[in-house]
This record gives sequence, structure tokens and C-alpha cells, in this order.
Amino acid sequence: MVIVFQILFVLVLIVIIILFALRKRRDAVANPMPENYRELLNDYVTYYRQLDEAGKESFEKRVEHFLSAVKITGVNAITEDLDLLLIASGAIIPVFAISDWQYINLHEVLLYPGSFNADFDQDGSERPISGMVGTGAMQHVMVINKWQLRQGFINNNDSHNTAIHEFVHLIDKMDGTMDGIPEIILERKYVNRWKNIMDSTIWQMKNYGSDIDMYGATNHAEFFAVISEYFFEQPGLLKTNHPELHEMLERIYKTA
Ligand SMILES: [Zn+2]
Repeated sequence: MVIVFQILFVLVLIVIIILFALRKRRDAVANPMPENYRELLNDYVTYYRQLDEAGKESFEKRVEHFLSAVKITGVNAITEDLDLLLIASGAIIPVFAISDWQYINLHEVLLYPGSFNADFDQDGSERPISGMVGTGAMQHVMVINKWQLRQGFINNNDSHNTAIHEFVHLIDKMDGTMDGIPEIILERKYVNRWKNIMDSTIWQMKNYGSDIDMYGATNHAEFFAVISEYFFEQPGLLKTNHPELHEMLERIYKTA
């Protein structure tokens, strides 16, 4: 009789272990691709809308891959299909021309409804905190404000996009330092030139003002994030107003 109980006990234990393992596996597949993704991308993501058919297909595959790899969690906010697609689009747009790109330094995106405080690299007090890239215990986590995320894509007449801004910080951080120099994608021979252009533009911004968001004059890292938003949101305008910057960003993002 005791042996029967022992066998039963072991069997129950095995079942529990299997169930636990299956649950973990399910958790690992982060987000399935939303059903109406084509419609949503077409309606909200100008960058996607302007691609040809082959480009669109490739963009969709990259979005699906991103969503399967990175967990997206709402914190006091409901994560809707549109939010998933906008976060993934913000991730893919800057690296779309770099086919083998992986955000190896990102595991989870937290979606907040409004302002938040945490152990993050804050985007300063001059403008509302719209997104952050985690440091310390929050390494590999990005926080993004849902309202700002949507504004970045809905409003096409400015050069702001919070998701692109935060993902550019991650690209910059991939080499170990968030310093405005994305060594992982910028050829070494251009590093000094890039630094000089950043310095001279920041100097001009501080002394004469600029059409570039003044937040970019905070430091090199913010300059790189802000000017990248401008580059992907208003490429034609950037080319007209700042041809040298535009040329360097084409080099960095391999879009030439
Ligand atoms: Zn920033």
C-alpha cells in the first residue's frame, strides 16, 4: 500500500513538473502577431505605408519576429494590438536596412499609461517623461508611455517619435556606452567626423536656436536619439536643412 502511494506521489510530481515546464514555454513566446496587422500598419505607420509590396512583407516579418522575441507588458495600461505593432515598428524602422539586426539588449517593454518613476535613464525634466531605457536592475527593460507612443505615429507633421527615440538609445547602448556613437553600426573611420558634427550642431543649437528639438542639445546620446527621430520622420526636411547630418545618418542606418 505504501508503495502505491509512493508511486502515485511521484506520478503527480512528474505531472506538475511537466505542466510547469509547458507554462514556462508558453510564456517564452511573447506576443502572437495581431490578426489585422496589415490594416493597422497601413493606417498608422507612414513608414510602412510608403514601402513597396516586397518591403511591406519584409517589414511584417521583422515585426512578427520582434513580437515573438520581446515580452510587452502593460502596467496599469491595456496593451492593445495597435500598441504591439507601434512598439515593434519603432524597433524595426531604424534598423530596417540592417537585415540581421537583433536587439540582444532588450527582453521586455513595459507600457505605462502616463508618467512614471523608476530606476531608469530619464529623459530629463524639461519635457514629460515619454520613455526610458533601463539601467541597473532594470537592464534589458524599456518603458514607454502609451499616449506618447501613439502620438509619435499619429502626428506626422513633426519630427517626434518616442518609440524610435528609445530604440535608438538601445542601438547606441549596444556597444556598452550610451554616448551618441553607435559603434556597432558606424564605421570607425567616420567616428571622429560624427563627433565633430554633433559638437558643432549642438553649439549652433545653443547659440542660435534650431529647428532641431532643443532637447537634443542635452548631450551626445540625446542628440543622436533626437536627430534620428527627425531623420526617420522628416527625411526630406532634414536633408534640406542639414545635408551633412542627413548624409551621416544615411551612413549610420545604411539607407543610402
Ligand atoms: Zn532620450
